[in-house]
Amino acid sequence: MIYDITMTIHPEMMVYKNKEEKKVKIKQVNFFEKEGHYESEINFNLHTGTHIDYPLHMIKDGDNSNKENLNALIGPAKVFDLVHVNDKITYEDIKALNIEKDDFVIFKTKNSFDKEFNINFIFVEESAASYLVKKQVRGVGIDALGIERSQVGYPTHQLLLGNNIIILEGAILSDVPEDTYTLYCLPLKIKNVEASPVRAILIK
Ligand SMILES: [Zn+2]
Repeated sequence: MIYDITMTIHPEMMVYKNKEEKKVKIKQVNFFEKEGHYESEINFNLHTGTHIDYPLHMIKDGDNSNKENLNALIGPAKVFDLVHVNDKITYEDIKALNIEKDDFVIFKTKNSFDKEFNINFIFVEESAASYLVKKQVRGVGIDALGIERSQVGYPTHQLLLGNNIIILEGAILSDVPEDTYTLYCLPLKIKNVEASPVRAILIK
């Protein structure tokens, strides 16, 4: 069974805070009538849709896409059902979960059921992030376009990226039951950048 947990990229897709500059633009540049073939180009922020953040996103001089490690992006991943959680995921919400060293943990929340951008999206709070760092997980995924909101200084990003833990944002988990899967999360191979869109799938 393959679960495609990737958002479809298109001009009307959900973008962070509905910001105009974050919207995807696809433009047809060659036409059958004129050039005899069809070509288009796309313009979008690297944090559009389902994407990963590299440390450079929040850590000055942090690793960028050049240091990408496919071993961390492919392999076992645990999806935890936290759909009952309101507002934010805290240490209390995850302390009893079976989280182990080198796990790629993916949190399924109410966010997966939002049809439009929800300013009050469920996020990973600092206490949960510190616990995940202590556990030495290899990646943390969430079904929101951001892994945190309303935290001064972005401690969740700082803690995870500062410890070279991959952040996967914008996963769609509505149809994915809590379980352990094999994750394939493949970023576009772009040089010197702080984030990349990915095609992410979970296989059971
Ligand atoms: Zn991002």
